[in-house]
Amino acid sequence: MTAAAPNQASLPLARPVTALAGVGPERAAQLARLEIRTIEDLLLHRPHRYEDRRQLRPIAQLQLDEPATTRGTVVAMGVKWYAKHTKSIFELILDDGTGRLHCRWWNLPYMEKYFAVGDEVIVFGKPVALKPRTVDHPETEVIEDGEEDFIHFNRLTPIYPLTEGLPQRWLRSLVWLALGQFEEQILEPWPELHLAGGSANLPTRARAIRMLHFPETLAEPELARRRLALDEFIELQERIQRRRRNFESKARALPCRGDNHLIKPFLACLGFKLTAAQTRVLRELRQDLSGSRPMRRLLQGDVGSGKTVVAACCSLMALESGYSVALMAPTEVLAEQHFRNFTNWLEPLGIAVELQTGSRKTGEGGGQRSEVRSQEPGVSGQGLASGIQNAESSVPQRPTLTIGTHALIEAGFAPENLGLVIIDEQHKFGVAQREELVRKGQYPHLLVMTATPIPRTLGLTVYGELDVSVIDELPPGRGRIDTFVRAADKLPQVWAFIRDRLTEGRQAYVVYPRVEETGSNGVKAVRQEFEKLQQRLAPFRVGLLHGRLRPKEKEEAMSAFRACDTQVLLATSLIEVGVDVPNATIMLVENAEMFGLAQLHQLRGRIGRGAHASCCILVAAARSKGAHTRLRVLEETTDGFRIAEADLRLRGPGELLGQQQSGMPSFRFGDLTADLDLIQQARQLVAELPEEANPARCSSANPPPQGSKPAIT
Ligand code: ADP
Ligand code: MG
Repeated sequence: MTAAAPNQASLPLARPVTALAGVGPERAAQLARLEIRTIEDLLLHRPHRYEDRRQLRPIAQLQLDEPATTRGTVVAMGVKWYAKHTKSIFELILDDGTGRLHCRWWNLPYMEKYFAVGDEVIVFGKPVALKPRTVDHPETEVIEDGEEDFIHFNRLTPIYPLTEGLPQRWLRSLVWLALGQFEEQILEPWPELHLAGGSANLPTRARAIRMLHFPETLAEPELARRRLALDEFIELQERIQRRRRNFESKARALPCRGDNHLIKPFLACLGFKLTAAQTRVLRELRQDLSGSRPMRRLLQGDVGSGKTVVAACCSLMALESGYSVALMAPTEVLAEQHFRNFTNWLEPLGIAVELQTGSRKTGEGGGQRSEVRSQEPGVSGQGLASGIQNAESSVPQRPTLTIGTHALIEAGFAPENLGLVIIDEQHKFGVAQREELVRKGQYPHLLVMTATPIPRTLGLTVYGELDVSVIDELPPGRGRIDTFVRAADKLPQVWAFIRDRLTEGRQAYVVYPRVEETGSNGVKAVRQEFEKLQQRLAPFRVGLLHGRLRPKEKEEAMSAFRACDTQVLLATSLIEVGVDVPNATIMLVENAEMFGLAQLHQLRGRIGRGAHASCCILVAAARSKGAHTRLRVLEETTDGFRIAEADLRLRGPGELLGQQQSGMPSFRFGDLTADLDLIQQARQLVAELPEEANPARCSSANPPPQGSKPAIT
């Protein structure tokens, strides 16, 4: 993502790198491998570290295991072959007058051609031995005499990510050249926001870019990063807010106000009272659903907080209004479970519930009408007007609730009058999939549900286009869940404990990371362990569930466990989403170190669903000390929010976002684990922008041409 707004004046920066002296087709191709195509790309190519070449460490002062930069003259070098000439070590010996340093590279014999005896070389590396002083695979740069020395030495020197064949020194010179030539063309992308100076004390963009490459103090690179990150966040927020305005001004949904004739009997037969949080959230949802502005809402609620019932109520509002509903779940197991629940709930009310998964399809699953639409989703939105017409004039056909997996996205499913789309466990889907399902209708209301709490930074960026409702309360009468982290040598006691619970009539999940063993790496796989576990736990019966079973086998495994015909379910993380068996109170996860915290929290959410106290045991391989520390977070808290924050910090956003990340901007400078203040600042700033502040800017993000469908999410 480039951060600069493409107003006229910034065009020079959009010129290809070949506009720079010394960049021919070959260099351009190498740069392209680093995603550097324009001058601007080059100026935003971020050093991955800096070397303080104002004071190099003498070789004699290098310390074991301490990364440092030093320099010396090549006094000897050569390649040694061994193992019948299949392996090699290239060794380079440097001397700086205080001592000698051996640099070694394994199996890179061609390194030889980059050096010559007598060369002055700068070396960055971590000594692995002191007698003799040795570094393995260091980063090196040969010092060439020349006028350009001031670019490379006696300063905080940027070290860039490279690609094969591209020398560090050459790239650094090129950045220097580009800066000299184009610095004055680097304009403030949002002049009306006065980002430079002020209380935040941020540099101008031009100054930040110079600091990024050639800082004068150790603090400057971070200052530069923050300024450039702010630009990125502002651009994103501006896009989010503009798309939203655009969407709201054009799109019309079918109002699903409902008249309670279905919800009333539904709630009366449910067998429990909604929690205060569920009731509050339903009020928010009804508000949205009643209008003709398409709802775009994220329903967030910890595992077991009762999102499904809320989804059912929303479905009923749409169905009461005469419109159909589609509910998409990420796995067949979960889709089947929803199908069973919703059928029990809605069929007594005379509502047709259909199922459509890869392996099973009930009824006709929706009208035949929209052949054309389903083949050309791209033009389905043309009729904004016809969407409104639809809303007002069409006679509702028998409204249906269709539940399914991503099979719903495939052509053929095109229900009449789709009023509402619900996506369960949305982090298992990508933005594109979500959008495809929404396109099955004109502008259906959209409710996406997730049990993964969204840290604030992600809520304001990745999910910035959705309103958020939170169920922050669990239904009453839930047994507590105790969580224990144990080393593998405690497994015998763990099994004894599990046996005791089974004897008391409870059930257990046992989760391993893999379906099939992939090597002798000690990672447990369900297929290999299945028989052993059956023997170990006899006479209790063990079921097996993993992603490679046929759908029918999966469903059989689930129903046997649900009916307590099997007392133990051996499974992969396939069961992390949705599965609901209240009598299961034990969960054992082995190789727990291989899962993210948020994912383990989801898994743990399978237990603690009934009145009995539940217990989650996380067994980590003995060798991973760090893993034990990480897993302790789960011992300490069941607050999904804190767990998600910890996961974001420890493992980065990819883990939490799941599929979602595919459709999202990647930040060059912004850091979703650390930049909440900048994200909030950006949002604030953009809110202050006049609505059509700079029409030129709008051309940047490809607004839909007149009359076409505005972006949906
Ligand atoms: P999740 O939010 O994880 O999807 P579910 O919707 O699967 O949670 O609900 C978990 C369990 O709690 C289900 O068995 C559901 O019937 C039950 N439940 C939901 N709401 C309530 C409530 N208000 N009181 C009691 N039980 C409830
Ligand atoms: Mg659920």
